[in-house]
Amino acid sequence: MEGSAGLAALKQLSRLGKQAILIEAGSKIGSKNLSGGILYSKKPKNGQVTNVEQLYENFLEDAPIERKITKYILHSTSQDKVYSMDLTAAHDYQANFGYSVLLNKLNSWFAIQAEEAAAKLGGGIIPGVHVKSITRNENGTLIIQTDELDDFEVKAIIAADGVNSEVAEMVGARKKFTPQQLYQGVKVIVKLPEEIIDERFGISTDEGCCTSLCWAI
Ligand SMILES: Cc1cc2nc3c(=O)[nH]c(=O)nc-3n(C[C@H](O)[C@H](O)[C@H](O)COP(=O)(O)OP(=O)(O)OC[C@H]3O[C@@H](n4cnc5c(N)ncnc54)[C@H](O)[C@@H]3O)c2cc1C
Repeated sequence: MEGSAGLAALKQLSRLGKQAILIEAGSKIGSKNLSGGILYSKKPKNGQVTNVEQLYENFLEDAPIERKITKYILHSTSQDKVYSMDLTAAHDYQANFGYSVLLNKLNSWFAIQAEEAAAKLGGGIIPGVHVKSITRNENGTLIIQTDELDDFEVKAIIAADGVNSEVAEMVGARKKFTPQQLYQGVKVIVKLPEEIIDERFGISTDEGCCTSLCWAI
């Protein structure tokens, strides 16, 4: 399942020498993936994380990332009043960086890296295939049924099929969300010349600013 999580799993399994395939319902890489726009790398004092630049060694040099976020501001507005808070220090706490990204572009880049690593072990990515059922064999292996391919057997699966995970429902880990548990969001991308972005947000061309608004409607 080819969001950032599935691609990271494929890359990491390949690094560990395990043969793996990634099955994705969407026919085009990145076509079903969305984010608000900032990719973070963290350095928590406790616990361990594997950051994107560790998994993809050439990430900072080659990945299609946009601006390094150097300023995080939250504006709280009500009628004609605004109260602004600078949250930069809070964001910088235990963090390596945050970059603005367009996830469909970035996932296409992740996919090239992950597929290259997987192919060396006979694995890879199969787009345009929807997993519809998972059952367990008597010998403990799993049978995968899809809408497009003949049934096949695997030793293990990683469900990386997003927040509305059908795999979680198939294996009985979670029930389908009800409409009351969900909300709908709309994302709009506004394209502006570099110098206007710099001027409006008070940054230089290699910097980015994350501005959040919280207001009474
Ligand atoms: C509006 C918005 C703003 C966000 N902003 C940020 C942000 O600024 N920074 C941040 O870090 N995170 C942000 N997030 C969260 C982040 O985008 C998600 O956590 C992340 O994209 C999830 O990736 P994923 O790989 O787990 O799942 P997804 O990207 O949802 O990928 C799941 C994939 O599985 C496939 N799939 C699903 N079911 C099947 C099936 N049965 N068979 C085959 N394939 C299947 C889908 O086609 C899809 O490609 C935001 C999310 C939203 C919605």
